[in-house]
Amino acid sequence: MDQHVLSVAIVGAGIGGMAAAIPLSRAGCRVTVYEQAKEFRETGAGLHLGPNGSRLLRGWGLGDALEGVAVRPPAMEVRHWKEGRTLVRRPMGQDWDERYGAPYYTVHRADLHRILAEHVDGALIRLDSRITSLENEPDGARLHFADGTTATADVVIGADGINSVVRRYLAPANHVVYSGNSAFRGVAPADALPTVPVDCLLVWPGPEVKLLCCPVRSGREVAFVAVVPDPVRRPASWSARAAVGPLVDMFANWNSDVVGLFDGMADVGCWALVDHEPLERWSSGRITLLGDAAHPVLPHHGQGASQAIEDAVALAHCLAGPADGTGTGPSLRDGPAVAAALRRYEEIRRPHTYSVQTGSRGSGTLRLSSEPQGAGAGQTGQAGDVLGGMIEDVSWIHAYDVTEVLRGATTTTEVSAACS
Ligand code: FAD
Repeated sequence: MDQHVLSVAIVGAGIGGMAAAIPLSRAGCRVTVYEQAKEFRETGAGLHLGPNGSRLLRGWGLGDALEGVAVRPPAMEVRHWKEGRTLVRRPMGQDWDERYGAPYYTVHRADLHRILAEHVDGALIRLDSRITSLENEPDGARLHFADGTTATADVVIGADGINSVVRRYLAPANHVVYSGNSAFRGVAPADALPTVPVDCLLVWPGPEVKLLCCPVRSGREVAFVAVVPDPVRRPASWSARAAVGPLVDMFANWNSDVVGLFDGMADVGCWALVDHEPLERWSSGRITLLGDAAHPVLPHHGQGASQAIEDAVALAHCLAGPADGTGTGPSLRDGPAVAAALRRYEEIRRPHTYSVQTGSRGSGTLRLSSEPQGAGAGQTGQAGDVLGGMIEDVSWIHAYDVTEVLRGATTTTEVSAACS
């Protein structure tokens, strides 16, 4: 084993874990990704990738692969929940490309995951490896697996999602916050929905429930999510399913496009929309967090994946230097140097993700009302104003370029020098 190469253990081969593996292994780190699942399956539905995330993936050379499966919706539309008519339509597509310098994509989560996995060269992916606990030791961090085995690494990155074991180790008192809503998600073939446009991001704000649709898989499929007030807190589990019957009943008096959405479906994905109180610290010694494990976001800003990818870029930069290879390389194996690099990563990312995380609460399409201000249902003016406000609400997130921030930030060399 090369004594100078930094060994990195990533817990969780989800979007953030796979994203982190790409720049870290390209920078020469010895990366192992431990994933609890026995295999990668086609789980999940639609996922939003803002320009702030797509810009980074393009920078890694994943742009063509994304273009092959993702959709750049040319517009965003709000429709009347009962009558089905369009209340307001705003351009996206080229307009957003020009405004933010990168595309806004809607993509099936399984497609994005596959693309990331195909570009992780040189990292070892170990499936069926569930971490149960971990600790900092003088010469490394130790991971304990469900099968009783252990492993050590110079750095451990907890990218293990919303129910993170690594976060429980770092912040045992941090608690989950239930939003009061559940999300029901699914995917339907586009040709079975002739009247649902496959070219736009569509929102139907109902009296209680909000329904959103977006095209995925080059427009061949339509992903939907219904955000429903739910007195029962369901598990926050991506594999949980629910019968479609209650959804069919819930939407029975909506417009015919919506009624047709559930035809032929046996069940849908369902989970509680939860986040956590923002953490005061993400790192301890050689262990840190990334993505949902660090800052779980409610989906109303569509930022879960993009924030995890930004984390990956920042963390790789702090540990191994700039992605252009001009850094010192991954030679910071001693404990204080690793701890200083992780602190730097946290200092760069925590204020930004704090704003994204807390801003996602009670925002996005939740602001759209079906019965505005006592006027008639779904007034065009109200929907237009709110939609315009929603777009402006998130423009600072989409415009954010983490690589610009890193260019102006302390480099790994400076961090290393500061703690020696
Ligand atoms: P995730 O992508 O959730 O990845 C976490 C990974 O860690 C998972 O692979 C998990 O199996 C693994 N893991 C957890 N605990 C352990 C452990 N103890 N040991 C080892 N591995 C562990 N978001 C959407 O917007 N739409 C979707 O349709 C959607 N579908 C999803 C389907 C699945 C199967 C998963 C896991 C997540 C899904 N998400 C979806 C969530 C979305 O991927 C994340 O919110 C976002 O991309 C941030 O990614 P992350 O890497 O932080 O977390």
